[in-house]
Amino acid sequence: MITASDRVLDAVDEAADEIVDFTRELIRLPTVNPPGDGYADCAELIGRRLSACGFETLYFAAEGCAEHTARHPRINVVGHRSGRAARPLVHLNGHFDVVPAGAGWTLDPFAGIVRDGRIYGRGSCDMKAGIAAAVYAAEAIRRAGVTLNGSVEISGTVDEESGGFAGVAWLAHRGHIRADRTDFVIIPEPLYVDRICIGHRGVYWFEVTTHGRIAHGSMPFHGVNAIDHMGIVLDRMRRDLLPRIAARSTAMPVEPAGARFATLNINGIDGGQAVDGIQTPCVADRCRAVFDRRFLIEEGFDTTRAEIVELLDRAAADVPDLRYELRDLMVVHPVRTPDDSPLIDALDRGLRRVLGRSGGLVASPGTYDHKHVTRIGGVSNCVAYGPGILDLAHQPDEWCGVDDLVSATKVIALALLELTGTLS
Ligand SMILES: [Zn+2]
Repeated sequence: MITASDRVLDAVDEAADEIVDFTRELIRLPTVNPPGDGYADCAELIGRRLSACGFETLYFAAEGCAEHTARHPRINVVGHRSGRAARPLVHLNGHFDVVPAGAGWTLDPFAGIVRDGRIYGRGSCDMKAGIAAAVYAAEAIRRAGVTLNGSVEISGTVDEESGGFAGVAWLAHRGHIRADRTDFVIIPEPLYVDRICIGHRGVYWFEVTTHGRIAHGSMPFHGVNAIDHMGIVLDRMRRDLLPRIAARSTAMPVEPAGARFATLNINGIDGGQAVDGIQTPCVADRCRAVFDRRFLIEEGFDTTRAEIVELLDRAAADVPDLRYELRDLMVVHPVRTPDDSPLIDALDRGLRRVLGRSGGLVASPGTYDHKHVTRIGGVSNCVAYGPGILDLAHQPDEWCGVDDLVSATKVIALALLELTGTLS
């Protein structure tokens, strides 16, 4: 007996060429961020396809965001398709911005070339294939003549690569993704076609400035060298802080496994006079450094920050004239999908049916728009699942496998059926 879900899977197979072609069309629009090129065109391309697939489509310019300018407008698109009932509502979200191509490509990063079963191009895996999978998962259900017992929304959003503030965060602040109307959110980011991503670690970006006192470089004993003092801070971080945080690991299944530990990276440092400029004999009176601390859900932000303050305070107490200033640049709190979320079950079942296996759960070493869905929108039932291999994201010759793209489309379609209770 042929069931409704069999028909849906057949409809995905029949649409395979269209799914690939739509991905290629998206790649051919170089929506590079920064600065945020071609967003309006890309939102429109997605919006036109959604309209053709029976969605009511709305465009949202991120009014009120500093990034939204006349030259680089931040345009998001949201399509809504009602089924028999308004709820449950499943929202599929994909960001359409891509990072710059960078060097090292052996083919055109914005041509959408298909070769040996792979779609190449900047944004192919991260995450224009995921957007195509979302659109065609919903479309296959329609073509199979199945009406959902709930609704589906698909959004194409901007700026994920730079924090998502004019994209998913903006939509969530305006109530378009919110717990009182949105039941489930799936973000088809590339975190391996057989894995379900349940969240990410936290991020704390901070800037430390050491303040010294300028004096003649031939008599440095008359001044206080801010670079020397930054050196002391860095040394204490390496000797006191790093061994402590490197010993902490999370219970979240972060991949790669090396990222299961708390980490600290120094992004940049700047002090004294510009090294390319004309030199004068001066003691450096200022040094600034920016740090990237990834913290675990088990650590929490307050402890993480307090540890930095304690280290700096102790250095200031021990070293005469060491004066510092700490500035928080960005905080992203860790998120984790509840273990009993129906999303995990639905996708897991879909994976076993489509691929014959499930790779289980994974967590992201970085962050993605999950944080805004959960922390601003209040929707805890959020996961990332989509086609593509995480390691290829942002690399030269980025690609997404056609087989993975088709499989992920099927898994998402099955999850839509199950989450809306359509087959029960
Ligand atoms: Zn991405």
